[in-house]
Amino acid sequence: MRTLDDNLMLCIDCTLLAETGELPEDPKIERACLAGLEALTKGGEQALAQWSTDDDDGVREFSRQPCECCGSHLGGTRQRYTLLTSAPMPAAEAAELQDDVNTLRAERDAAETKLVDAEETIADLRETVAELRALAAAHEHPDIRARWILERADDFMSLEQPHANH
Ligand SMILES: [Zn+2]
Repeated sequence: MRTLDDNLMLCIDCTLLAETGELPEDPKIERACLAGLEALTKGGEQALAQWSTDDDDGVREFSRQPCECCGSHLGGTRQRYTLLTSAPMPAAEAAELQDDVNTLRAERDAAETKLVDAEETIADLRETVAELRALAAAHEHPDIRARWILERADDFMSLEQPHANH
């Protein structure tokens, strides 16, 4: 089943008829509701699905919008319905959807290529950082060693001096 229309507003009489099979008391209204429902459902090829009444968009408490089933202009509650069909999609509509699918696939492929490129760039940058760190360490190392030797040399000299005075 696919959606034909997700914004059908039905009067309370048509809602009761569609949900419980309860017929309106007024024979004129009854005929209008039955005819409307028959036209909408096309002998079972199409079906109505009521929106949740907990949904803010599912119910309009008061509306003079004509009922989209029986055509009643009487002000009152309107319940929102989705109209579904089991009929195959018309070729033109199917082709349009296929175009959309193809466009989305192409966009996804392009995004995936970009992601792979970005990951490669990150890996390259990580390698460069590691190389730079190794280079920096290599440059720092002799320095640290030289400083360490100088410090020890000072200690040694300060130890040596009192000896020299002996
Ligand atoms: Zn109605």
